[in-house]
Amino acid sequence: CCMAFAIHASDPGYMKFRDPQQPLSKRTRDLMNRMTLEEKIGQMIMRDYSIGSLLSGGGSVPRLQATPQEWIDMVNDFQKGSLSSRLGIPMIYGIDAVHGHNNVYKATIFPHNVGLGATRDPDLVRRIGAATALEVRATGINYAFAPCIAVCRDPRWGRCFESYSEDPKIVKLMTEIIPGLQGDIPSDLPKGIPYVAGRDKVAACAKHYVGDGGTTRGINENNTVIDRHGLMSIHMPAYNDAIIKGVSTVMVSYSSWNGLKMHANRDLVTNFLKGTLKFRGFVISDWQGIDRITTPEHANYSYSVLAGVNAGIDMFMLPFNHTDFIDILTDFVERKIVPMSRIDDAVRRILRVKFTMGLFEKPMADQTFIDQLGSQAHRDLAREAVRKSLVLLKNGENADGAALPLPKNAARILVAGTHANNLGYQCGGWTIAWQGLSGNNNTVGTTILNGISATVDSDTEIIFSENPSMDYVKASNVSYAIVVVGEQPYAETQGDSLNLTISEPGPSTITNVCAAVKCVVVLVSGRPVTVGPYLPQVDALVAAWLPGTEGQGVADVLFGDYGFTGRLPRTWFKTVDQLPMNFGDEQYDPLFPLGFGLTTEPVGSS
Ligand code: BGC
Repeated sequence: CCMAFAIHASDPGYMKFRDPQQPLSKRTRDLMNRMTLEEKIGQMIMRDYSIGSLLSGGGSVPRLQATPQEWIDMVNDFQKGSLSSRLGIPMIYGIDAVHGHNNVYKATIFPHNVGLGATRDPDLVRRIGAATALEVRATGINYAFAPCIAVCRDPRWGRCFESYSEDPKIVKLMTEIIPGLQGDIPSDLPKGIPYVAGRDKVAACAKHYVGDGGTTRGINENNTVIDRHGLMSIHMPAYNDAIIKGVSTVMVSYSSWNGLKMHANRDLVTNFLKGTLKFRGFVISDWQGIDRITTPEHANYSYSVLAGVNAGIDMFMLPFNHTDFIDILTDFVERKIVPMSRIDDAVRRILRVKFTMGLFEKPMADQTFIDQLGSQAHRDLAREAVRKSLVLLKNGENADGAALPLPKNAARILVAGTHANNLGYQCGGWTIAWQGLSGNNNTVGTTILNGISATVDSDTEIIFSENPSMDYVKASNVSYAIVVVGEQPYAETQGDSLNLTISEPGPSTITNVCAAVKCVVVLVSGRPVTVGPYLPQVDALVAAWLPGTEGQGVADVLFGDYGFTGRLPRTWFKTVDQLPMNFGDEQYDPLFPLGFGLTTEPVGSS
């Protein structure tokens, strides 16, 4: 497509910022000296191709079953638009690749963060980051709005599954996904400089800064009431780690801290994040987060722009109002209400990320990584992650000792429950659609039922019923049953829940099956759910979290090809009126404590 640029000092038309031999600071300064105010403000917006960046957010994925080639073509079309602007500054394209490249048909969907927290395995998470980067690059995209490093302190929060743990130490351990996504930083790089190692990597985004997981009663986007010491010791440590690991961007939280919206919090965004923690990448708003600085939202947009820019936000996701934003901010700068130095700070940070990504040298996506989407190697990795994420909560005591691992050679087994044969439920929110899927055919993978079928002996008969009656189960003449129930997909506020129950008809499925035969219950949920009443009825209970596309990994462990090793990343409550309840609280009386997890040995190959 694009214009050829002179990059040698002796060439006519040489521009220092185009010369990769020049140091980053000189390139940035040279380019900024050439930019008008309008061009600078344009860089601060994430919307369409005339400006700094573009996104496919939760609700705005272009085509449901687009192929990687179609994605590449779309991204390149936008990029061509950016490159044809006066200075030819390339754009970055962001997407919510939060558990694999989850917006994209046929991508490998890894367990959601809560399941990864159960693995306590930073090396695994790092490999998942690297695989996700390759799948994102397969579609020509270079920026992922991940990882979410929220420390979820209350499972009633609808985004709790996006949090690795209630324990800041576990969340900190899991920031190892950042070098997976972006590559390892060179050892001599000063703290805070954003870093993306190459074209097989993507820019990452630590989100949502800060305290998103601490809101009162787990209400999404609400107020986090905690003193500064609490904020710094619970919610902040993972950000420091993310910055040490070279994270390119940080997304601000919709939530407030002690009544002040984070999108307007200059002390925490500018003084602390950019000052104390030395973060040199760019800070991005969460969607239209600045609109919500006022109540009701969007009540005074000029004030919102002023407060957001002055707080230190550099890049604004603006699905609407972007012309208003440009006009308002230009006016504030011309009237010296927003200092030019603030605009320059934002643009310098954005350009720094673009330069370090190598975008000026190679802005266009090509086919190099196209085969990486949903590759067998990535599916094997996701299956490994599923195996390691399972937490065994109960094993035996009811009938004759341990119920797990299950024998593969039973004559007949029953698989029951709404979640046994549903890929959409396994994948949870943020998969293909913002609120996730309810069905089985909208992406590619194995359900838990598929996995069980592929694992048992060939002459074992499997009967499947979503919600069998007790009479049916009694008459079925099975050796045992596997019941898979849980929560239906949700994302963001839609997932807030005060009762945390198993979705209907799951409770009656458990009761009907477990009263009649030996039963193993597998929970597919983004968080602990109420299980106390059913616990005496079940022979074994497994938390499988939201395992993603590789349901086979669940069967691998149920039948003893691998042992159970996962440990609870969260406290499992007895009743919801105990919430919030976190490890270390004075009143700590859980059903299962943080760190709990029974183990089994793999069955020797026979
Ligand atoms: C979410 C973010 C997400 C963004 C873009 C927001 O509503 O809070 O986590 O990255 O949308 O889709």
